Amino acid sequence: MNTTIGNVPLITLNDGNHIPQLGFGVFKIPPQETAEAVRAALEIGYRHIDTAQGYGNEREVAQGIRDAGLDRSEVFVTSKLGNSAHRPDDARRAFGQTLERLGSDYVDLFLIHWPLPTCYDGDFVSTWTTLEDFKADGRARSIGVSNFQIHHLQELARETATTPAVNQIEAHPYFTNDTVRAYNTEHDIVTEAWSPIARGTVLREPTVLRVARAAGVHPAQVVLRWHIERGDVVFPKSVNPARMRENFEIFDFEITDEELQALTELDRGADGRTGPDPDTFDRIG
Ligand code: NDP
Repeated sequence: MNTTIGNVPLITLNDGNHIPQLGFGVFKIPPQETAEAVRAALEIGYRHIDTAQGYGNEREVAQGIRDAGLDRSEVFVTSKLGNSAHRPDDARRAFGQTLERLGSDYVDLFLIHWPLPTCYDGDFVSTWTTLEDFKADGRARSIGVSNFQIHHLQELARETATTPAVNQIEAHPYFTNDTVRAYNTEHDIVTEAWSPIARGTVLREPTVLRVARAAGVHPAQVVLRWHIERGDVVFPKSVNPARMRENFEIFDFEITDEELQALTELDRGADGRTGPDPDTFDRIG
């Protein structure tokens, strides 16, 4: 078994499948720009794409893979269940639509996008057992969750038989989210860090600029490498091919333990979030 794909490490999930540690995120890329962005990313060397039903661009992700001349099997594709489809019948229908849009009979990883604990009478357990069926019938090679807090994960552990393969959560130097990350690690759940460069805001931070200058690289490269050293999976988004390339070339420079620690100390706790709090987020429309 290879341990890398190109320069990118492969991480083993708790179900034995492997995920490239560095991928490409397509949140907020308009559908009409997505195929071209995905094609450009794959040309640079990315082999992992993170999309979602809610992003409205699954079909164009598949088009981008075809335009790059790659076989579906050469790219790790993640999608996520829409917030309006948590009830089991809706989840089954929505999952079928994802496969249809991806033009594939499987997805590598399928996630519950948000726990929505204040919706659906607080029931995300029946949603999870529906995803277990997708895993059992092979249409989802791996299943996981996103934006789950510790108590949500504990409820799944109490009520169901399958530990999520991943928990995709907001994490970056301004919001390290280390308590949830520690629970994930302890329970063999891989952490995926969304908005890894805090949507660009952390790139002007003096500590980041200092470390970047010392290493002779771009600030985004320093922050992405920090995630890699922490063991998390990341998939920065960019529509700019020069930035896509920059975000991909993060394995060939040195960064010291002191520098990694200085980046971790930028944590502002919950004040550092760029996105909503999963305990209260309730947008299902
Ligand atoms: P990112 O932290 O990846 O930041 C993206 C922003 O930074 C864009 O504005 C981009 O602009 C800019 N940027 C990218 N690279 C560089 C660079 N090298 N230098 C300067 N600016 C740069 O934020 P996202 O919110 O997009 O998160 C990444 C992915 O995480 C998403 O695409 C999605 O897949 C996932 N995600 C998941 C969520 C969830 O709830 N599960 C929530 C949010 C994100 P430009 O495009 O112009 O280069």
